[in-house]
Amino acid sequence: QMQSYAALRDLPARTKDGVDIAMLLNAGMLADLTHVEEAGAAGIGLYRTEIPFMIRSAYPDLKSQVEIYSRALERAGGRPVVFRTLDVGGDKRLPYFSYDDDENPAMGWRAMRISIDRPAMLRQQLRAMIRAAAGRPLSVMFPMVAEVAEIDVARAVLDMEIAREEAAGRPLPQPLSVGVMIEVPSLFWQLDQILQRVDFLSVGSNDLLQFFFASDRGSPLLADRYDCLSPAMLCFLRGIVEKADAAGKPITVCGEMAGRPLDAMALLALGFRRLSMNPAGIGPVKSMVRSLDLAQAQDYILTLLHQPDHSLRRKLRSFAKDYG
Ligand code: PEP
Ligand code: MG
Repeated sequence: QMQSYAALRDLPARTKDGVDIAMLLNAGMLADLTHVEEAGAAGIGLYRTEIPFMIRSAYPDLKSQVEIYSRALERAGGRPVVFRTLDVGGDKRLPYFSYDDDENPAMGWRAMRISIDRPAMLRQQLRAMIRAAAGRPLSVMFPMVAEVAEIDVARAVLDMEIAREEAAGRPLPQPLSVGVMIEVPSLFWQLDQILQRVDFLSVGSNDLLQFFFASDRGSPLLADRYDCLSPAMLCFLRGIVEKADAAGKPITVCGEMAGRPLDAMALLALGFRRLSMNPAGIGPVKSMVRSLDLAQAQDYILTLLHQPDHSLRRKLRSFAKDYG
């Protein structure tokens, strides 16, 4: 099987009915980045910047951050890299940074919430990304946004850093694109305003599912209780991709769903065309894509969205079996 996945590497991620799918990689460690070429991925759809921070014994200064981000861009060999700003707090703690204990860490002081309250950290991180990109494309993405106003705060910090670099005569990223993660359900009802402000969206289905069903993503007792292939979740995802399409803005799914062939099939049927996943998902998902009749899957999933099933997994699996 490994060998047949390797053979897929140079073949396009195109469905049987001719639709091209962007296959991207999630990364954090430098080692993940060496997989970009190996896996035949089109780029890094999610670079989790907190990972290099977590493996250090002290907070990386500006110079070390510039090095981390430059190395990531170099390893990606000219393919696009989406840098997510720090998503710490919750279960991801930096040993050299102090947090107050939240009773519900996943819903506590984490990610963008810390970046907004500690703007010096955000400023430094953005400055390092701008310097690392210097003259090359830069994509920055903000995690755990819950309100439009948070995007405006983050954007203002970014604009200020760009202006500062420009005034200092340093080369600017070219082009610069800004995105947000859809991880908190409240964003759905603010999508019109959000889409006017960003260049792209990325669905963090791990957190989105956890907040959608109020079901801890790490709880073994709940692991099988709610399914991302439930009608409610799929309707929600469909609503999100429709809005992004109507606004003409690219949207990716970068949660674990995107790397599981059956879940990925459902995402494509709902209208997603960009999937970002761990290296191990690329072969199996690409193999699914190449055997998929997308138009048929699209028609089929629409018949399921309003059924009362707990999960559509079984139906989708038998559809997948029947149609190759
Ligand atoms: C997600 O929540 O789906 C996501 C991609 O972010 P993380 O897994 O890093 O929280
Ligand atoms: Mg997340």
